Formats: sequence, structure tokens, C-alpha cells
Amino acid sequence: MDQNNEKNKKYLMILIGVTVALALIVATIIIVNNRNVDKQDEDKIAYTELIKMINEGQIEKIEMTVGSTSIKVKQNNVEKEKSAIIPNTQAFIELIQEKVQEGNNIELIQNQLNIFLKISSGIYSWLPTIILIILFIVILKMQGLGEKGKVYDAEASKTKTKFNEVAGLDEEKQELIEIVDFLKQPEKFNQMGAKIPRGVLLCGKPGTGKTLIAKAIAGEAAVPFISMSGSEFIEMFAGLGASRVRKLFEKAKKIAPCIIFIDEIDAIGSRRSSGNGAESENNQTLNQLLVEMDGFDREETIIVLAATNRPEMLDKALLRPGRFDRQIVIALPDLNGREDILKIHSRGKRFNADVNLRSIAEDTAGFTGAELANILNESAIIATTRGHAAISNGDIEDAVKKVMVGLEKHNRVVSEKDKKLTAYHEAGHAVVSRFLDTQKGIKEVSIIPRGVAGGYTMYKTNEDKFYTSKTEMEEKLISLLGGRAAEKIALNDISTGASNDIEVATKIASDMVTVYGMNDKIGPVSLPSTNNISDIPFFGENMADVIGQEVKKMIDLSYNRAQEILVQHIDKLHIVAETLLEKEIISGEEFNKIFEE
Ligand code: ADP
Ligand code: ZN
Repeated sequence: MDQNNEKNKKYLMILIGVTVALALIVATIIIVNNRNVDKQDEDKIAYTELIKMINEGQIEKIEMTVGSTSIKVKQNNVEKEKSAIIPNTQAFIELIQEKVQEGNNIELIQNQLNIFLKISSGIYSWLPTIILIILFIVILKMQGLGEKGKVYDAEASKTKTKFNEVAGLDEEKQELIEIVDFLKQPEKFNQMGAKIPRGVLLCGKPGTGKTLIAKAIAGEAAVPFISMSGSEFIEMFAGLGASRVRKLFEKAKKIAPCIIFIDEIDAIGSRRSSGNGAESENNQTLNQLLVEMDGFDREETIIVLAATNRPEMLDKALLRPGRFDRQIVIALPDLNGREDILKIHSRGKRFNADVNLRSIAEDTAGFTGAELANILNESAIIATTRGHAAISNGDIEDAVKKVMVGLEKHNRVVSEKDKKLTAYHEAGHAVVSRFLDTQKGIKEVSIIPRGVAGGYTMYKTNEDKFYTSKTEMEEKLISLLGGRAAEKIALNDISTGASNDIEVATKIASDMVTVYGMNDKIGPVSLPSTNNISDIPFFGENMADVIGQEVKKMIDLSYNRAQEILVQHIDKLHIVAETLLEKEIISGEEFNKIFEE
């Protein structure tokens, strides 16, 4: 990827250089030409006077350039450029031809098209055009060089990825096996008259294994894999995206049977608009993609897989029959899936005997395959730097945290005041949660800065749940606002440290109202996100006001509830905060002990 970007940058620089140089040449020529025009202006000749001179036999030669108002006349053996406005060129030419036939001695400069041409300066006046043509060819060539479709292997055996490297996703794999069969034996399907989907849309979050599964299809079928990212199609030169799409498919047709993989298809495939500039460029690219998808022959053994995290953004035309008419949702892995992914990525790594992948899987609900792979890789790095003989549970736990909240920054200088504020903030989250049934599974509370966060409260997440209840969401709001509430109660001040909590809480509250229909006043109605609510003619601006009020009410109620809990258990809040200041980190067990005393 990086290498490719480097290359493209280089081409871009060359392209800009060439363009600037040619533009300078063209500009120079135009200036020189203009100087000539200035001179001619001194020698204007009225049309009627010109006719009079011709009739009187004073003109010996006339040269005309197509599209030019300037003519060259020869008078008394002297050639002169004169600018004249010829109202009707055709009539003028006929007039001169008549004069010639009458025996007037006028020389005709005339080409086979029967147009007077000033041949002497022909090339000169065509020069800018020629340069523009050259420039155009150069751009086309560059574009060819910048061609980004990557054939990972013209020889199929090189895509070694197989389905057994893709953990979980059993049903999805089952669904995709028929594509593998089709790529292997297209004749069988064609003879049967079976229609195989040409385009398959893989929908899921980044890191859930969409690319991996696409590669595995190519690997299983032993066909080449051509991949391109939607964002790579979007270019600054109009028409380039479209031509890239065309080239990509041309290439695929040459090496078929094969797989085309378009990552981030939403970059080109989002809903068409009537806009101009970048948007219409986008439309062209999308249109080309549609043309290519429709242009497949029955016999062509090419499958186009596309990935997106935002299927709802895609232009509906993309999803019509014959295009991406099959959608496969690649969900976050469940408990078993996570265990399988961890197993796959533990291959070739050494672990202590007590390391239990199942329990890591239990602690990592909501993680993507990529994050799980990353955890094991990080744990191996941590184990190595610590000089361990094998990866220990501790190494893995730290790797989880590292992946979760970014690198631990022990040595970041934190002022005492900041530390106290963070301690109360985190203690606030933890204490409030402790008294909420759905939130009380505290795993760890810490005031060691990580990434951008000053501290964190980690919850146990070992339950794989499909649905979230209203109560759980309400209690989540309360625990999120517990941080801010504690700052206010204990220090009578509030800080910017709660900004993320507030953002998350507001999002949850507005989702409850607009997405999940959990608000009594509004009821089970699906509404657009609160940002553009007024766009909805249906409900009107009044609805926007009601949503705003309801969200605010929920947040206020939650904040008040958090304050109540903290006031009631202020002694515990102080103990937790002081313990944090002393130890910087408290485990779930230590935390619970504080409440049992
Ligand atoms: P996406 O294309 O959905 O963003 P990728 O396919 O690029 O995700 O996944 C990145 C990496 O994460 C893969 O190369 C693989 O190492 C790991 N990974 C993701 N999902 C899985 C899975 N289901 N099984 C095994 N590894 C996975
Ligand atoms: Zn917080």
C-alpha cells in the first residue's frame, strides 16, 4: 500500500511538472501571437474598401486563415497583413473566384477544401493545439502508469489464503462456497442454466475480515485476486476514476477466471447527486462501474466482491439485480468466533500452560478479528521485551489494554491537581456503576494515562448479548455521567475530561429516542439523526424540538441520578478516589472489597 502511494506521488509530481512546463510554453506562444495581432491592428481595412480595391484590380494576392479575421493582401508587390471583418466568408470567396474568372490577376491561396489558407503560418497557429494534444496524451500515459489495480498473483497458487484461515463466519463461508465452485467449474453452472451472483457486497465494520474472506475465495478457487480501494478511484482529474474502473475490468477480463475486490465501495458508490466538480466526477466513476457490471457476458467467470461498512449509503442502482444483488453481513465475532480467531492467530506463538484462550475471548466482546489478531501479536511483543520464555496471562492482559486504549504512558507528567481530578472522575464512574444492576461488573479502575484518556474504568464484558434493554441503556447513561458528577461533588469544579463521556451519553440518549423508539412521548417512530431532523418534511421542526427536549430530559435525569448515588455514598467515593491516588490502579476485586467493609 505505502509503496504504491509513494509511486503515485512520484507520478503526480512528474505530471504537475510537465503540465507547468507545457503551460508556460503555451502562454509564451499566446503572448507572441498577441504581439502580432497588435501590429495588425495598426493596419485595419474596412470590408467595403477591400472590395473596392479588389474591383479596381489593386490586389494581387489574398490569403485567409480559417477562423481568423486577419487577411494578407499583396499590393504593388508588397505583402501586408491587414485585419478585416469579412461578414460572409462564403460570399467573399465566391466574389474573388469570380474576379479570377473575369481575368483579374489575383493569386489564390486555396487548399483542397476550397478554403483560403494562409499556409505559411499554418503550423505556427496550430502549435498551441498540438501542444495541448501532446499534453493530453501525456496525461493519458501517466494515468496508465498510475494504474492501481494490483494483480496479487497472475499465478493463482500464490493466493494461499484458504477458508480455514478465516475463523468463525461459518454461515457466511457456506454461502460463499458456491462462488468458489462456480469459479472452479463455470461450465457446470452454465450448462445447468444457473445464475451465479456477479456482485457480492460484504457489509461489516473494518477489521471484521472482509478482505480476508475475499482472498480466501480466490485462494480456494485458485484464481487471481485483483483488489482496489474505492478511495483510489476518486481522483482530481475528471474522468480518471471512470477510466480506472474500465481498466480494472479490462484487466480482469484478460486474466479471468478471477476475483475483483473493491474495498470501501461507498467512496464511489454513495448516492448519486446532481452536484458538480468532485461529485459529478464521482457519478462518472459510479456510472462506469454500473456499466461494467451490466456488461458481463454470461460466459465470463469474474466475481466482483465489494466491501463497505455503510451499505445504507450506497446508491440503490448498485444493488439492482445483476449488480451487487447479494449482500452478506460480516458481523462482529461472537464468543466462539473470538476463541477461534484467537486460536488461528496463536499458531506459531509460545504460551504459558495456564493461558486460556477461552477466557481471553470472554473478556473481549465487541472486538473485531483484526483487534484480536493485534492483541496476540502485541502480547508476543510484550513477552519478548519482558524477557519471558513464553507469553503469560499478564502479557495478554496488558496487550488487551494496549489495543483497547492505546499505549500506557507511565512517564507522562501529570500534575497533582489533574491526578486528583482524574481519580474522582474515575471513582465517580465506578461507584455509580456499582449501584446499577446492569453496570456493576467493574474489572479495573485506573488513573494511569493512556492514549488521550487521563484514566479509565474498565467493565467486564463477558456476556454476548444481541439486544440491549432500555434499562441497560438508561443505567449506562447514569454511569457515564458519574464521572462529571463526582468532579462537581468532590471538587466543586468540572473539567474537560468528561467531554467524551458526554458525547457518548448524548449519542445513546438520542439513539434511544430516534432509533430505538424508547421514548414515551415520541413512541416507536424511526427518525433521522438529530443533526438533520429539520430536513424531514414529515415530522417538521416541531418534532426536532421535541426530540431535543426529550434527549435533554434524559441526560438531566441521568445526571441527577448519578449525583444522588454519589451523595448517598460519598464516603465510598472518597475511599475509592484516595485508593486510586495511592495505587493508581485498582482491580475489580479490590474495588468490590471497599464496599463489603
Ligand atoms: P476488513 O477487510 O473487514 O477491514 P481484514 O480482512 O482486512 O478486515 O482483516 C484484517 C485482519 O484481521 C486479517 O488479515 C486477519 O489477520 C484478522 N482477521 C479478521 N477477521 C478474521 C477472522 N474471521 N478470522 C481470522 N482472522 C481474522
Ligand atoms: Zn469518564
